This record gives sequence, structure tokens and C-alpha cells, in this order.
Amino acid sequence: MAVKNRPDEFFDDLEAMSPGAREKYQIEKLALTVAHAYRHAPAVRDTLDKAGVKPDQIQKVTDLQKLPITRKTDLIERQKAYPPYGGFSAIPPEDIDRVFISPGPVYEPIQHEGIQWFAKAFWAAGFRKGDVVVNTFTYHLSPAGILIHEAIRDCGATAVPTGTGNTDIQVQTMHHLKATGFVGTPSFLMTVLKRAEELGYDVKKDFCLKRAWFTGEMLAPSLRKTFENDYKIDTYQAYAVTEPGGALAYECCEKSGMHLMDEYLIEIVDPETGKQLGPGEVGEIVATPLHNRNWGLIRFGTGDLSSYIIEPCACGRTTNRLTGILGRAGDAVKVRGMFVIARQAEQVCLSFEPVARFQIAVTRHEQRDEMKLKVELKHELSSIEKQKLSDELSQNFQNICRIKPDTIDFVPTGTIAEEQPKIVDERTWE
Ligand SMILES: [Zn+2]
Repeated sequence: MAVKNRPDEFFDDLEAMSPGAREKYQIEKLALTVAHAYRHAPAVRDTLDKAGVKPDQIQKVTDLQKLPITRKTDLIERQKAYPPYGGFSAIPPEDIDRVFISPGPVYEPIQHEGIQWFAKAFWAAGFRKGDVVVNTFTYHLSPAGILIHEAIRDCGATAVPTGTGNTDIQVQTMHHLKATGFVGTPSFLMTVLKRAEELGYDVKKDFCLKRAWFTGEMLAPSLRKTFENDYKIDTYQAYAVTEPGGALAYECCEKSGMHLMDEYLIEIVDPETGKQLGPGEVGEIVATPLHNRNWGLIRFGTGDLSSYIIEPCACGRTTNRLTGILGRAGDAVKVRGMFVIARQAEQVCLSFEPVARFQIAVTRHEQRDEMKLKVELKHELSSIEKQKLSDELSQNFQNICRIKPDTIDFVPTGTIAEEQPKIVDERTWE
């Protein structure tokens, strides 16, 4: 297997395609993907036939909107009805070299040969030949461990399959092998570092850990700072989803959004209508694998919410970038056509020092959605200061959530309990 060792930062030529070349590439791959899946995966044939769409009617990315979103629950139901693969397998059974199992259960037939693109996410994080990387993702009953192991190898680095848990053994292994890389969740790395300190190690002196690659859990900015400033560990995150087959987006050295992987066609859609949304609009991430012929998965709805940006990245990669995972489709409340997500609202409100707690109430008045923001302060402010805070909050809300609260009320301390939901939908639909 060819190991990439080019002096430049890109894993392959796709990462720096011009917008015109990318459009052409996507259209070609999409047509091939849909035609192949229609021919070989009965579930896809069924979906297209029911939608009254012929494979050759999917010519452009926008044509995908003619097809429904397939969700994890659909996979589970279809696999129950048509075991074992629910009609989604698009290769002959004897060509399947492994079957991944993910919770559901969902059985995913894989012919792994030639799958190298997952490595791009590790390459962008700087993993190279000479690195020794502990892979703390589980190696059984989940695709994560093995897929990531192979991706680390495809970057030329040495992979150490430690799997999850066993904190003391992880500490010992990283110390003995002089591990330079960690792959896992941010919280598990923190657990390992704290345990190392309890055991008397000075992580910066006694360990060689240079970089960490995370997925499966949000990397909180405060935790990132701790890793990077206190422990001198460079951190990268990626967005990976099991069903469409791996990492869909990954950070580069700029750490400003996650580059979309060109091996998938990623749409951001309104989860209720399936309509594609534009840059900056928050919606559900929907993925269609363009290179994975094993699996006839067209328009897989991940249930995760994000938005994308189209501005060029200083690293030179030309793909659009996801702005981060903002929540789950069920957690969002649509206000005047825009999704308001608790995590985003929290990001806005808690960036102001005087704000202790907040709650959003959405009501409906004369056929118009109204958003009220209740704010509890850490300390009392003068009315001029409150007005200033209110104006700035409102503007930041507009910048981040793309919608302004109709009113901002400062409420007495103790009004909003810790366990209360951040967003309350009080609308009644009559
Ligand atoms: Zn970049």
C-alpha cells in the first residue's frame, strides 16, 4: 500500500481542486454512485421507484432533493425486514471482506480494499511516518478502531491498538513506547493525562505526546486550551459517522471549521423538508458516499446539525468547511424559519461575563414566532450597563444564530433553575 510522504501538506489532489473541477467531479461521481446503487442495491431501487425518479434524473447536486432522506431508523427497520443488509449491500456477498456492526444493530458490509481517504483527516493533523500513535477507539462491535488503525497506517505512522479503557495500561504504554500521538475522545485523553500525573509523571517531561486527534465528542474550547497550552499537545478534531463509512470532515492546521471530505457529497438540509440550505444556514448534515460502492446509501441523514462556510481557508484546501456540530436535529427549535440550537445560544450568552444563566422561550403571537431571552446576571448592573449588554447580546445572537430575540428580560437570581431546558417551545398550533 502506497504511503504518502510528500513534502506538501495535502494528502491528495482532491483537497485543492478548483471550484469548477470540484463541481464536475461531484456530478460525475454522483451519477455513477446512483446508477450503481440502483442496479445493485434493492433498497435504493425501491426508494427511487417510490419517488418516481430514474437514476439518470440525478444529474446535479440539487437533484438529490427529489429523493427522501434515509435515516438510521430506516436502516434498522429495513435490515429487520430484509436481513441481513436490508437491500443496501451493493456487492456480491462473497466479495464482502468484513462486516461492521454498529448499535441498532446495523450491519455494514465492507470491501475495504482501496479505501484510503479516511487517512486524509490524520494527514491534515500532521501524522506521519515516525509517529507512534495509540488508538484508544474500540476495536470490536464498532467500525471505529479498525478504520482508524488503517488510516493511521496509511499516513505512514505506527499504530498501537490499545482500545478503550484500561487507563493505567494506557499511561504505561504511552510512556514505554514514547507515543507521539493519541487518538480517541478529548475526555479520555484528559483522564489519561490526569492519571499519569497521579502516578507521579510530569507529562511534558516524561511523555513524548505531540498531537491528538479526536472524534465522537465535541472538543470544548477550554479543554483545547488546556491540552495545547498546559500540555503542549496539538489537537485536531474530525466529524465521523459510522453508517456512511467514516470521517466526513476534518480540521487542518488553521482549526477554523472542518474541511469536507470529497469522497462524500455533503448537504446541509432542513430536516423537516429535506430541502438544501445555503452557506451559514443551520440544518441537518446529510451524506452520500461517492466512493464507497459496497453500500447503496444515498442521502443518509446523520441527525447532526451544522452549517457550512465557503470562504477559502488559509491552508490552501479548497473545500467548504463545516462550522462544527451544533446539536441534534431533535434538539433544535425553528423560529421564523431559522433553527435555534441550545448550544449556539449558550455560546452567545455565556460569552458575556455578567451572564450567569439564560433561557429562551418561543411563543407565537398573531401568526408570528416570538423569541424571548431571559437572562440571569452574576451581579447587579446599572440600567445603562443593562441596555448596553442587551444591545450586544442581541447583535451577537444575530451574528451567530442569524435571528434576534424579540425581547431580552433580566430576571432575578434563582428564576432559572440549572436543570431547566435552555429552550422552551411554548407555541400552540391551532
Ligand atoms: Zn484549512
